[in-house]
Amino acid sequence: MPRDPRYDILFEPVQIGPVTARNRFYQVPHCNGMGYRDPTALAVMRGVKAEGGWAVVCTEQVEFHHTSEITPYLELRLWDDDDIPMLARMADKIHEFGSLAGIELCYNGMNGPNNYSREVPMGPAHLPVSTFSYDPVQARRMNKRDIKNLRRWHRQAALRSKRAGFDLIYVYAAHALSSLHYFLSRRHNDRTDEYGGSLENRVRLLREIIEDTKEAVGDTCAVPVRISVDELLGEQGLHRAEAEDAIGLMAELPDLWDVTIAAWENDSRTSRFAEEGHQEAFISGVKKLTTKPVVGVGRYTSPDAMVRVVKQGIVDFIGAARPSIADPFLPKKIEEGCLEDIRECIGCNICVSGDFTMSPIRCTQNPTMGEEWRKGWHPERIRKAESTAKVLITGAGPAGLECAQALGKRGYDVTLAEAGTALGGRVARESKLPGLSAWARVKDYRELQLRKLANVSVYFDSRLNADQVLEFGFERVVVATGARWRADGVGHLHVRPIEISAEMTVLTPDDLMDGARPSGKRVLIWDDDHYYMGGVLAELLCGEGFEVVLATPAGDASAWTRATLEQRFIQKRLLESGVTIRLHRGLSSVTSGDVALRCVFTGKEERLDSDTVVLVTARLPEDTLARDLQERQNEWPEAGIRSVTAIGDALAPATIAHAVYAGRRYAEELDVVPTNDDSLPFRRELAELASR
Ligand code: ADP
Ligand code: SF4
Repeated sequence: MPRDPRYDILFEPVQIGPVTARNRFYQVPHCNGMGYRDPTALAVMRGVKAEGGWAVVCTEQVEFHHTSEITPYLELRLWDDDDIPMLARMADKIHEFGSLAGIELCYNGMNGPNNYSREVPMGPAHLPVSTFSYDPVQARRMNKRDIKNLRRWHRQAALRSKRAGFDLIYVYAAHALSSLHYFLSRRHNDRTDEYGGSLENRVRLLREIIEDTKEAVGDTCAVPVRISVDELLGEQGLHRAEAEDAIGLMAELPDLWDVTIAAWENDSRTSRFAEEGHQEAFISGVKKLTTKPVVGVGRYTSPDAMVRVVKQGIVDFIGAARPSIADPFLPKKIEEGCLEDIRECIGCNICVSGDFTMSPIRCTQNPTMGEEWRKGWHPERIRKAESTAKVLITGAGPAGLECAQALGKRGYDVTLAEAGTALGGRVARESKLPGLSAWARVKDYRELQLRKLANVSVYFDSRLNADQVLEFGFERVVVATGARWRADGVGHLHVRPIEISAEMTVLTPDDLMDGARPSGKRVLIWDDDHYYMGGVLAELLCGEGFEVVLATPAGDASAWTRATLEQRFIQKRLLESGVTIRLHRGLSSVTSGDVALRCVFTGKEERLDSDTVVLVTARLPEDTLARDLQERQNEWPEAGIRSVTAIGDALAPATIAHAVYAGRRYAEELDVVPTNDDSLPFRRELAELASR
């Protein structure tokens, strides 16, 4: 289909200094948990973005000197000439599809303890390194020689970036992750020399480095500056008025302004805490300060919103990290008029968790993300069917839906049988909880894809048992029947059921999602799951007027959500809405009318009056069908069954992203990977041994 002329403006070329972007789609730098460990996988992933139509595709932050590295996190490195080939591979992949390659040079400085290089970290002042892990290491105040060195190192890195083939070479001063941000920041910079004090002085180093970079590579490369316009800390932090003055002082120096809010958790807010376009209020007006193009982000997935922000003069480029992860082909789909095929980001930040867990990026919506090279998966292409096998999938949750649509696209004849009356399984249920409505997109995308596939039939009200499946005679049977929350207290802390009095009302998340509500006013939520569910249910019940205590053995509410940048927002919201949070508490007994909480350190018990206990601990797979079929394997040949495979939560409960991935994996591997194959199921990049 031709593209809608309303979106023409998004496909106008835009000049950035000496280079020209072919459209307004701009993949801003984003981390990915691959970095220098997986450079080819990373290069191919970025190449797929270019193929999908992003006119500018950037690296993540690139450590450009060994005196500033953020081990254990995996970013790219440009420490000397030896790193050039690794970066050149990425630039080449991006160029293959006609896009511009951008590199974000970063000197973290006091943002890392330099655990690998063991160099003493440096910053504008003597301050403890600013990390999540409270490392017992301080950064030292940089002297004039250090500042000179830093300028020289940046210049050398810019020249190396140019040799590697990059078209945009960033000066990075954003997010409270870069030394240049710390120099800019009043609360970090207490210097009394010409690099501290007045704003002119605090921007001096940034200005000098922009000038150095322009002078070194500006003839052929664009020099964008990434800066934060607000830290949301009021007078304590960098705020809009000051950022405006800072930009005003350097307005025409860079070739592009890339503006964000800080810190990273504010910039990359999840859909639970911010809508599409939530940064507009902060970045509007920046364009009035400069004639240079401006890029900003806002988790935009709607082309109408993109057109609006360009027409309103808020930005020149639609910056995106997450929308480009969930759908690397977003620009192409708009260009080709296939809007309904856009796989919209759900704003869950599972992608961010890859960085925090130092594992290759993954995405709830796009199961091919991070697997482009190591498994050869592609977000828009999948190999043709290699047999005429008919496949039965039971369960239309994220695992079953992804499996059905991917197998359908391969060309298999697929029957999807769902016990209930709707598609989506857990995403359909969970998306009705407070703040999670965007998660329904996991179902929406797949539902639309299935509608286009004549070879996939969907049946509702079809809770299948083993007798029925054996009667049907499908060659391949996939069991994607999901999981149910446990009501016996088993979780991370208790690996055996705990004693629970029959007189106490005990509810699970499933019960609450099914509409059950606590008896009495006083509710204890015992969260030994540590992801979002405990906090979301506390929010739900508190909003309905219950008196909620959330107890957990962890040191934070919803502790794992640190990896999705949500923990602080969750705890704040719970506290502000009146939820009582009890940390480091085990649950030792549940009797009629009260519960006993036990301090995880001292074992000291305290009793809490409660009318209802909600247990958010662990889940058990709904694997009856899979087990029954396995037990009747002797009947398979007569029924024509060759394999029965449990996937997703029916195999082992985990995140929605795990379930989508499991569905995709089955579909990718059917008739391709032999069942008894012992070889490594992915490619990896091995370090070359030194000669001695
Ligand atoms: P996953 O996350 O692994 O996709 P979900 O729990 O989201 O799992 O989805 C499981 C789906 O399977 C639910 O929609 C449920 O109604 C359905 N289901 C459960 N048992 C059966 C069965 N025996 N036959 C068909 N569908 C089933
Ligand atoms: Fe969006 Fe979630 Fe995918 Fe990240 S993991 S790109 S937030 S859908």
